[in-house]
Amino acid sequence: MEKIKATIRVDSRLAAVAAKRMKSERLAMVVGTTIHLHGTTREEFLSDIHWVRHEACHLHQYREFGTFRFLYFYIVEWIRKGYYNNHFEVAARAAERDPGVLRDVEIL
Ligand SMILES: [Zn+2]
Repeated sequence: MEKIKATIRVDSRLAAVAAKRMKSERLAMVVGTTIHLHGTTREEFLSDIHWVRHEACHLHQYREFGTFRFLYFYIVEWIRKGYYNNHFEVAARAAERDPGVLRDVEIL
């Protein structure tokens, strides 16, 4: 399968809004193939392999469902189960221990 080519956006407005809502000082969030960062640098993010794997799992989820369907299902899950128990987040946390999740991902 073709690699997912992802880009990083530092100081993302969107991530800043999400961080405020999540009461989190640093935050990464994926939308489509862009990893939005707030309160962290590209270098700090990339040096944290578990964090990178977590977001790589979300990149795969976007590829599987397509951006708009993924966002729809994610929001439905969030409303039903909250952030932590949302199955997309459960899968992403499991992926933090899975080196294979990075195989098809290239971060530009
Ligand atoms: Zn996540």
